[in-house]
Amino acid sequence: MLLIRQVELDGVVGLDVRCREGRIDEVGRDLSKFPGETTIDARGGALIPGLHDHHIHLLALAASRRSVRCGPPEVTSTAELRTALTNAPGTGWIRGVGYVESVAGMLDREILDGFCGDRPVRIQHRSGKMWFLNSLACAQLGLEPSSDGQLFREDTLLRERLDHENIEQETLDVEATSAWLASYGVTGITETTHSNNDATVRLFGTLNLSQRVMLMGNERLADGPLKIMLDDYALPDIDAFRQRITTAHEHGRPVAVHCVTRTELVFAVSTLLEAGTIPGDRIEHASVTDDPAMELIARSGLTVVTQPNLIMERGSHYLDEVDHKDHPYLYRCRGFVDAGVPLGGGTDAPFGRPDPWAAMRAAVTRQTDDGRVIGECEALTPRQALALFTTHPDDPGGPERRIAPGEAADLCLLTHGWSEVQHALHSDVVAATIMDGVVTFERNKLT
Ligand SMILES: [Zn+2]
Repeated sequence: MLLIRQVELDGVVGLDVRCREGRIDEVGRDLSKFPGETTIDARGGALIPGLHDHHIHLLALAASRRSVRCGPPEVTSTAELRTALTNAPGTGWIRGVGYVESVAGMLDREILDGFCGDRPVRIQHRSGKMWFLNSLACAQLGLEPSSDGQLFREDTLLRERLDHENIEQETLDVEATSAWLASYGVTGITETTHSNNDATVRLFGTLNLSQRVMLMGNERLADGPLKIMLDDYALPDIDAFRQRITTAHEHGRPVAVHCVTRTELVFAVSTLLEAGTIPGDRIEHASVTDDPAMELIARSGLTVVTQPNLIMERGSHYLDEVDHKDHPYLYRCRGFVDAGVPLGGGTDAPFGRPDPWAAMRAAVTRQTDDGRVIGECEALTPRQALALFTTHPDDPGGPERRIAPGEAADLCLLTHGWSEVQHALHSDVVAATIMDGVVTFERNKLT
């Protein structure tokens, strides 16, 4: 049992909250302490629902933490890439992440051998779609000798062929990463990797995590949304795509369609409109949404899960690279809210940084890391930005989770009241995180 004293709850100060058996048991003033009960003195800090990251790749995030950065800002040239690989710590496999062609062009097996030939190397493109392997890596994975070392959307193959030692290390890494997420107040995640399947369910069953996990994945997953990837230069046959949606719906599974370009978005939404939508169907990213697409989405009843943190992290790149006519349509927020489209938030870590507070801040300021602003009129209020991360896992953009008797004790305690915190949306404001009634993070010793 856990008693949290003197919290601010929905603007009301001086309340105590008791958690018992993973649920909120009591909310009131001056609750008496039970023998043996752990207490936290909140000193007037706001108590909010634990944050739920609606779009994250936990396994990939864990792996990226022991990976070599192979892209900007750390690595921007061939020479820097060579140095990064040469100085990679440890022995055995080198796993590189964040690569973009501006560093050293399109990579392949031979080019990578030139950079590093004495350890197996695999480097992931920043989009997450592609891996580049050197000869030793190709050999260890049992690829054809003629392979060019480019693997496109082959994460399942990689996972299946990497040796056991890698897998055991992975378990420890995932648990440590989960504990790190707790320091941001995160008590739940939606693992959105398209290749998640029944084996992923078994893997998660063995892990000791600080978050509840909702999995989406492919047809080999029994429930949870079906994740469908789209590439606008290789769109699937429209009938096959519609059938895939219909079959998922017949199995009671909503779909989550990856749409980062205008073409992908219009293709997905118009097909979903034809197939018919069910609750839980969602569009991931909707990175470029012009007004006609917005109107289509609003009509479809679909939910959108966005990543405002990418405004900050990649915004300067977008402003330089994306057609200026599209700038007002990049990672919109307010536009969805005004159109009545339910809007949830996720960080897309490791492709974005896993800090929901940075995402909230970017949703409010719309600022890039070099101080420019994207889509000023798309700004949310701090309260709306928080709500991106405080809804139920299966209903991003739906009603916020409540802190009331009978509800799950998944909570985030802040260092100050909301009237102060809203002007300083920063992860430093997380004083403690509680998942299932258990403290998973304390900034300073509170219990
Ligand atoms: Zn993603």
